[in-house]
Amino acid sequence: MSRKALFLDRDGTINVETGYPHEFSQIEIYPGSFEAIGAAAAAGFAVIIVTNQSGVGRGYLEEAALGRLHARLAEALAAGGAPVEAIYYCPHHEQAGLGRYKTACDCRKPAPGMALRAAREHDLDLRASYMVGDKVEDIRFGLAAGATPVLVRTGYGRDSESRLAGLDIKPAHIADGIREAVAWILGRERAAGR
Ligand SMILES: [Mg+2]
Ligand SMILES: [Zn+2]
Repeated sequence: MSRKALFLDRDGTINVETGYPHEFSQIEIYPGSFEAIGAAAAAGFAVIIVTNQSGVGRGYLEEAALGRLHARLAEALAAGGAPVEAIYYCPHHEQAGLGRYKTACDCRKPAPGMALRAAREHDLDLRASYMVGDKVEDIRFGLAAGATPVLVRTGYGRDSESRLAGLDIKPAHIADGIREAVAWILGRERAAGR
């Protein structure tokens, strides 16, 4: 049977937004991320990070360095009781990408490519899944994937909240941070008997 996923944006959602970090020492994980991811995994969610990393395409860091950063991030989260099943990233940028990274890909959020690929590779039910992030693109990605989108007010979240209102795009919920977002999701699932 297909499983439900909790898709999580990275910067501004799991860790403090700092621009284009290129090594793990620059990553500051929000304390609430450990509890939130641990609780979601315990409730049966496949926790999957989906992150736009155009810094690769712009030449700020190489894919190998991003791979090392993500391995360290997954280790640190797992060591804190927060198992992440996979990390997908988009290295492209249609305008600013260099060489092969300059492309209108289908994996840069808000396009749903990363969710579609994760669904194939991890046997996920996207309609039963959730997306949590701090940007307009995260909410549009969740909607495009057929998942339930939740905005967090961390990172760019407060700015996104007003932009979304202007665009008349409504997240299913707006939470102060990842801890509150996941608490809302788990409460909603319990209330629905799932
Ligand atoms: Mg973000
Ligand atoms: Zn891409």
